Amino acid sequence: MTNTASSVWGECLSFIEDNIKPQAYKTWFEPIKPVKLSGEVLTIQVPSKFFYEWLEEHYIKLLRVALVKQLGDDAKLIYDVRMENAYSSNNPHTVKIPSANRNPLSHQGVTVPIELNKRELKNPFIIPGIQKVKIESQLNPNYNFDSFIEGDSNRLARSAGMAVANKPGGTSFNPLLIYGGVGLGKTHISHAIGVQIKDKYPDKTVLYISSEKFTQQYIDSVKGNTRNDFIHFYQMIDVLIIDDVQFLSGKTGTQDVFFHIFNHLHQNGKQVILTSDKAPVDMQDIEQRLLSRFKWGLSAELQAPDYETRVSILENKLYRDGVEMPDEIVEYIAKHIKSNVRELEGVLISMIAQASFNRKEFTLSLTKQIVDKFVKNTKREVSIDYIQKIVSNYFELDVNTLQSKTRKRHIVQARQLAMYFAKRMTKASLASIGSQIGNRDHATVLHACKTVDNLTETDKQFRKYVDDITKKLTF
Ligand code: ADP
Ligand code: MG
Repeated sequence: MTNTASSVWGECLSFIEDNIKPQAYKTWFEPIKPVKLSGEVLTIQVPSKFFYEWLEEHYIKLLRVALVKQLGDDAKLIYDVRMENAYSSNNPHTVKIPSANRNPLSHQGVTVPIELNKRELKNPFIIPGIQKVKIESQLNPNYNFDSFIEGDSNRLARSAGMAVANKPGGTSFNPLLIYGGVGLGKTHISHAIGVQIKDKYPDKTVLYISSEKFTQQYIDSVKGNTRNDFIHFYQMIDVLIIDDVQFLSGKTGTQDVFFHIFNHLHQNGKQVILTSDKAPVDMQDIEQRLLSRFKWGLSAELQAPDYETRVSILENKLYRDGVEMPDEIVEYIAKHIKSNVRELEGVLISMIAQASFNRKEFTLSLTKQIVDKFVKNTKREVSIDYIQKIVSNYFELDVNTLQSKTRKRHIVQARQLAMYFAKRMTKASLASIGSQIGNRDHATVLHACKTVDNLTETDKQFRKYVDDITKKLTF
């Protein structure tokens, strides 16, 4: 068999996958497309410049080993940096706004702050009476990197955030988009970046703003006929942090104005930091051109913290509050509150309040009472049998059919989903999952998990299956 770019890359991938964490694999290797193989030279397409830099910095050794295995000592790798949905066909960093759309006042080459000194601007953040225009950053100093506990769940976002803070506008993480579920630290980390920039570069203009507030200001500016002032104001920021951009969904006017502000800032080497509760691919009702901008830099996910991280977060918080609590109680909380850091903190606050009001000691029974209020229904253990039952019910099959050898597509899919959930929600090994779900081997289970992962990303209907079943299994 002759080698092709995709066969060679496929082999490299399976080697790489065995050697790094699944999340890293997903983030850094799945988006790569093999494009060409000539002799020992493999060309791969990567979605952005930062991506290429990150690979070079973190994975070059691994890539080399994988390639040499496939292509011999002379193996070479060429990166083709290509952004999907780029506004124009060539390098998006030099993208020009078509003149028809260009905002007449945002004239390139004029440094806006100087112009501002001469003008009187009405905007909510300028402190009146100060000669030099000064903008309040709206940052909360308590949300800093020191108080943001590092763990596997947030390492990428945290280190990208630090990189940006040390060199705002000077990395390829522009924009830096941090996304993840409620209470996982998006707001905290976005403040932390701003706080650190202010610390390091006091002269930089940093502004933190929620999307709602941004939207409201924009609406007010339209009403008050100060739209241009609004745009000008934002175009002179060095580091713009917009929290919860999912709230821009459906608001076309605000999206439009943000698009222009974004382009101006980006072209001028200013840093943009965004947070969202979803990855760009999942954002609804956000214009394509804006989504494609979001993808230019780095999207880093904040995941739910693992047990060790939860313990550290609790310990750190107790330490800061000067409260002592027995280890077994901290461990109990960390074991039971899993999905959300805000809830972890909520439990601690209730505990401290209860204990001090009622002059109670921290006891395990007090802890249990409080934790129970947070996790409403104490979750039952999910077993592989239970998963098979739920999945079968969902597809109106019986469990025997699910386990049978049939290759009918919908039954295969149901079986693969059962395997996928067993992997996700139990501690069973691939082999043990396989043996319990129709006596298959571990490779079949692995393949099932990958298939489900892929389909979830590409197929809406399939994703709905996954979501529905997840709900059934967790409530
Ligand atoms: P989000 O914006 O994602 O909903 P927040 O940033 O508001 O979440 O975080 C919720 C709470 O959890 C905040 O009080 C924050 O300080 C805390 N928190 C989240 N992640 C961490 C962490 N890794 N270390 C310490 N505190 C954290
Ligand atoms: Mg938030």
